[in-house]
Amino acid sequence: MNIEDKLLLIRFNSDQSAHIKLNKDLCVDCEERGCLYVCPVNAYQIEGNEMTFDWSACLECGACRIVCSRGALNWEYPRGGFGVCFRYG
Ligand code: SF4
Ligand code: SF4
Repeated sequence: MNIEDKLLLIRFNSDQSAHIKLNKDLCVDCEERGCLYVCPVNAYQIEGNEMTFDWSACLECGACRIVCSRGALNWEYPRGGFGVCFRYG
């Protein structure tokens, strides 16, 4: 089974509010933009010159939190029963 097939097996129960909040002001002049390269589901995108973030398919892997040296991410895990569900290993 390839990675794309495995990703299709993951289930989400998205909470009403984002568990990662992005301070976009800190992204404007960020040169590294490592978040664009490490996120396995491409949750970060550049639209025009603005960084956008879609938290609904987040795998909660934490890679973006580690790679962002500017502290632009405010992270709180979803409430119990919400977020990603790796039911199929
Ligand atoms: S690495 Fe951090 S500061 Fe830079 S664009 Fe990504 S989230 Fe924004
Ligand atoms: S925690 Fe992982 S999956 Fe979620 S946005 Fe960050 S890099 Fe992407």
